[in-house]
Amino acid sequence: MALRLYNTLSGMAEEFVPGGLRKDSISDYPPASIYSCGPTVYGYAHIGNFRTFAFNDLLRRYLKFRGYRVDHAMNITDVDDKTIAGAAREGVSLSEYTGRYTSIFFEDLSTLNIEPVEHNPRATESIDAMIDIISRLDEKGIVYGKDGSLYFSIAKFETYGRLSRLDTREVKSGLRYDTDEYAKDDARDFALWKAPKEGEPYWDTPFGRGRPGWHIECSAMVRRIFGGTIDIHTGGVDLIFPHHENEIAQSEAAYGEQFVRRWIHVEHLLVEGSKMSKSLGNFYTLRDLLEKGHSPRAIRYLLVSAHYRKQLNFTFEGLAQAESALARIDNFLLRLDGVTAGDGGNDGLAGLIDGFIERFTADMDDDLNISGALGRLFEFIHETNALIDRGALPKADAQRVLVALRRVDSVLGVIFFSAAVDDVDEERIQRLIKERRDSKKAKNFARADEIRATLESEGIILEDTKDGTRWKRKR
Ligand code: AMP
Ligand code: ZN
Repeated sequence: MALRLYNTLSGMAEEFVPGGLRKDSISDYPPASIYSCGPTVYGYAHIGNFRTFAFNDLLRRYLKFRGYRVDHAMNITDVDDKTIAGAAREGVSLSEYTGRYTSIFFEDLSTLNIEPVEHNPRATESIDAMIDIISRLDEKGIVYGKDGSLYFSIAKFETYGRLSRLDTREVKSGLRYDTDEYAKDDARDFALWKAPKEGEPYWDTPFGRGRPGWHIECSAMVRRIFGGTIDIHTGGVDLIFPHHENEIAQSEAAYGEQFVRRWIHVEHLLVEGSKMSKSLGNFYTLRDLLEKGHSPRAIRYLLVSAHYRKQLNFTFEGLAQAESALARIDNFLLRLDGVTAGDGGNDGLAGLIDGFIERFTADMDDDLNISGALGRLFEFIHETNALIDRGALPKADAQRVLVALRRVDSVLGVIFFSAAVDDVDEERIQRLIKERRDSKKAKNFARADEIRATLESEGIILEDTKDGTRWKRKR
């Protein structure tokens, strides 16, 4: 069986072949080069953004599970119209402003048990690579200047629009265009380099002072890190046009080779039918949800449990369902812990485990069919529980079940969720303990139970004593 992943460029699921040349064995492949558009650091990322980042994590973890090596970059967009405006509003330097939100972003990733990646380039550290692209485009006559800014003339790039399958008439008439506020010859064109406005940060370059347009940043960082064609580029579906279309145009026109073999786009997280976004104001940050007492583990579960090419409607009911799925997993872990039956091995168990891992892998190989894969996990839990019920699971076998769970959890990151437990937020726990006490007084036992279950899903057990409630770690 081969891993197949959908490619926005071809509109089909295709076998995954890192480096583009088929090899006999997975270990012969070069590391898969992956670039994910990262956050623009002008505020807290919302959980819609984290749907995309959690997906990137699932993808990378699954490639590693399958034996591929990965070389993964996610950038930090630390200069653009929004970051500049934010810094100016607060009267602080751009780097102080973006540095603050970059740290918060990395903390949030770790809270969601999202693995660090190999490279986190900053746009502001990649200016030389942008100059290189723009100079090459200029030599080829694709660039024109206007009022101190430089533009890419898309009429000179024949295959423009291939990724988003834009109707060429739409592009030609300017019905679909980059909404960047800058003036240009043709509405379809986009800014490569922007003339500095009064008081804005700027860099000195061979073509004058200015600052980068957004699209050139990613093209430059891909080139600086990977040097040539990359295997996978990811982002949310909102980036297909114009951002990714423009990245392709700049990079392919500058270097004359394919930019990206496979484009993977994550559908949106919705709230009541609309895209969760800062501009619509209908968003929750991760911290909003933690404040309400939800566990990062359940949030991760919710975000990764829906297929990435389907929209996911965020509801608190959905979050509660994630919490109860995790409670089922935890009950199972507790039962495994408690197995005391004899020493021998159960002959059927090896087959049960192998079958589970095989089916889990087959589902994930099918364009990361996560719903199928999670279904296999719960089937396996159900079948193993039946063995425990019959006293047919010896202690040694319980250990083998745990090893299998650890294996699939290297992909899912929700079973032995460590982040929250390693990094206990004492203040939050105390606040939840107090809220639980108040809820009981007000006879709101449902809420009191929910708080206990939430903490338990993070590995934190509450104990009521005559001196009040104490907490301890589960294992
Ligand atoms: P930004 O910081 O706005 O550049 O977005 C960071 C990432 O989050 C990009 O890959 C976006 O496509 C993605 N994104 C933005 N809104 C959503 C949403 N509602 N659901 C899923 N992904 C999103
Ligand atoms: Zn990008």
